[in-house]
Amino acid sequence: RFGVVEGGAEGSNVTFDDIGGHEMAKRELIEALEFVRDAEKVKQLGIRPLRGILLAGPPGTGKTMMARAAAGYTDAAFLVASGSQFVEMYAGVGAQRVRELFRKARALARERKSRTAVIFIDELEVLGGQRGRHTSHLEYDQTLNQLLVEMDGMVRTPDVQVLVIGATNRMDLLDSALMRPGRFDRIVRVDLPDREARLQILKIHCRHRPLAPDVDLESIARETFGFSGAHLEAVVNEAAIAALRAGRDRLEQADLREAVDKVMLGERLDRRPPA
Ligand code: ATP
Repeated sequence: RFGVVEGGAEGSNVTFDDIGGHEMAKRELIEALEFVRDAEKVKQLGIRPLRGILLAGPPGTGKTMMARAAAGYTDAAFLVASGSQFVEMYAGVGAQRVRELFRKARALARERKSRTAVIFIDELEVLGGQRGRHTSHLEYDQTLNQLLVEMDGMVRTPDVQVLVIGATNRMDLLDSALMRPGRFDRIVRVDLPDREARLQILKIHCRHRPLAPDVDLESIARETFGFSGAHLEAVVNEAAIAALRAGRDRLEQADLREAVDKVMLGERLDRRPPA
């Protein structure tokens, strides 16, 4: 039920170099991951092991990419889940799934002879919303409580350290218990990219595409205020489709300009011109 992505240099196909912008966020995340890599030293100094990192920011800004890059960086077993996978109408099922997820993470780490497992939970607010606020709140509360128990209980499995990376675009909805020390006590902001970051993201997505000499990514970066990384990826992809339709073998500036308008309008990307 939960996705398993192999960690390690060969396993995870995303590295921090594939992520444009977010310099601060990357630095913070890498610093936190050094903790995980140096588990022995951390223990020796009596530092509390890091258990949770929260990536907070709007949709499509690269939170999932960050988590994948993190898994590769630590050579950890990596599991992906989404908050909505834990929402069930039957009492106890959500909590059971949380238990299962952590058990699977530890087993996978042992199998891979790794000391660390990373669990990425997208849409954390669905699972970790404030307790007592839902109509079927007993079930939600049990699920969240189980997550807290698993995060607190990690000391009891000293051979495997589980790091939970949560992602949310609604941090305001999270139960405050999740933010307590020893839980998600590192918050990394992953915001919309500024002009410089947009340029970097465009360059990343144009890396393996043939560009005509008139292409000016700086001007595209200037025009795309408010776009997320996902929007920018769509712009480049849409421009490539336009070039293909025009029978050209490289992208021109006009393709990119039109693609910006299209993405901005949120048009269906596969709409064909009238016959
Ligand atoms: P959501 O909150 O909707 O789950 P997210 O923040 O997890 O979104 P991702 O799934 O990581 O976003 O990004 C979606 C796609 O957008 C990526 O696969 C990538 O192609 C592109 N993308 C987003 N941000 C960046 C970035 N900073 N650099 C390069 N590509 C990016």
